[in-house]
Amino acid sequence: MKFYDVVIIGAGLAGLQCARLLSGGGAKILLVDRKTDLSKSVHTTGIFVRKTLEDFDFPPGTLGKAVRRVTLYSPKLKSLNLTSENDEFRVGKMGKIYQAFLRDCLANGAEFSNSTRYIGIENNQSSTIVKLDRNGAAFEVETKVLVGADGANSRVAKDLRLDENKEWIVGYEEVFHPVNSNDEPRLHCFLDAELAPGYLAWIADDGEEIHIGVGGYAAGFNPREALKIFKEKISGKILSLKTAKLAETRGGQIPVGGVLRKIASENGLLIGDAAGAVSPLTAGGLDPCLRLSAMAAQVILERLKTDEPKVLLNYSGELFRARFVSRLWMRRIIAAVSNQKLLELGFGFLRGGIGRKFAKHVFFGRGSFPDVELKIKAKRNSLDTSLLKNGS
Ligand SMILES: Cc1cc2nc3c(=O)[nH]c(=O)nc-3n(C[C@H](O)[C@H](O)[C@H](O)COP(=O)(O)OP(=O)(O)OC[C@H]3O[C@@H](n4cnc5c(N)ncnc54)[C@H](O)[C@@H]3O)c2cc1C
Repeated sequence: MKFYDVVIIGAGLAGLQCARLLSGGGAKILLVDRKTDLSKSVHTTGIFVRKTLEDFDFPPGTLGKAVRRVTLYSPKLKSLNLTSENDEFRVGKMGKIYQAFLRDCLANGAEFSNSTRYIGIENNQSSTIVKLDRNGAAFEVETKVLVGADGANSRVAKDLRLDENKEWIVGYEEVFHPVNSNDEPRLHCFLDAELAPGYLAWIADDGEEIHIGVGGYAAGFNPREALKIFKEKISGKILSLKTAKLAETRGGQIPVGGVLRKIASENGLLIGDAAGAVSPLTAGGLDPCLRLSAMAAQVILERLKTDEPKVLLNYSGELFRARFVSRLWMRRIIAAVSNQKLLELGFGFLRGGIGRKFAKHVFFGRGSFPDVELKIKAKRNSLDTSLLKNGS
């Protein structure tokens, strides 16, 4: 049986980020994904916010044009235009990002097993046996640390007896390639309690790709049907897709209950959606994938260096939860608004002076997941996680 310092289940952004940092730090890594080709079946729109773009390098050619303009719409399509003096968003070409991150991992000596399904674990005293299946052929590997980067419905979380996501919204979108686009890159966000109950419908149009989608609480919400009606609602008024070509559809669950509390045991830990590391308000999970995985990698390297499994317990969701209290409350309020008239009224408030400031803060605030990487780096050997509380 092959032995690895760390086995990572899931090669989405969280798993890849963790794998490239750990392999760069000298750990022997096996990265596993059930997908055959990471650039296929992408399930995210891929919008990166300003702070992520400032703090992390992306490989050349993997980001769309900068977006500075946002238009917010009421259910009756009244609009509110917001413009920032900064480049606020870019839509990532996610397939290319995943492939570039994977190349980094392989260059660092990490092994990647594609078309491989995680089946389960058996715990030994000081290690874990991980059961895998590659195209119908079962095999096992042994590891000191098992990382669950297997998304919102994490099987690893269950097997490690860690916390599991309980609150989700569902997102579904179509991606078009425009033939000609002279429009300024713009993010359009639509409040609509029927077509996007508890979240938003959106058009992200950066001139290179047009993403049209809906998101909402699953109960009583049929995303495909809602998207069809949404496209009819906006067609000709806000956007014409006559010259655009449908390239792909994307969709999936987005956990919005906040970072889970228990995200580590002595045998392993969770990152990304598996850890519930998504902003409960905006449902943005890409920035947390990069930051939380960096923190996880730091803790794992310390565990490997000291050969002390308890080091993993430093990695706790409690460090972050207090930072998300206000966003969780706002999520509860949004979830409770199921009436179009109330949304129309709320939109009226947003068009006023204070409301506009609030909207600008939500869309253009330099928020991110707590900035853990640099702080830990400064105290590399002491793992003083209390420093995290000062993160931005
Ligand atoms: C429609 C939609 C739009 C979104 N848009 C944005 C956005 O614009 N900006 C933003 O910040 N966030 C967005 N999000 C959220 C963001 O996409 C996620 O938070 C992020 O992609 C999570 O990454 P991850 O690596 O944790 O999980 P995932 O990307 O889900 O990766 C998990 C990986 O694990 C693999 N896997 C799962 N189970 C197994 C198994 N048993 N065996 C082997 N492999 C397995 C899967 O194949 C997958 O590759 C969106 C989400 C959705 C659904």
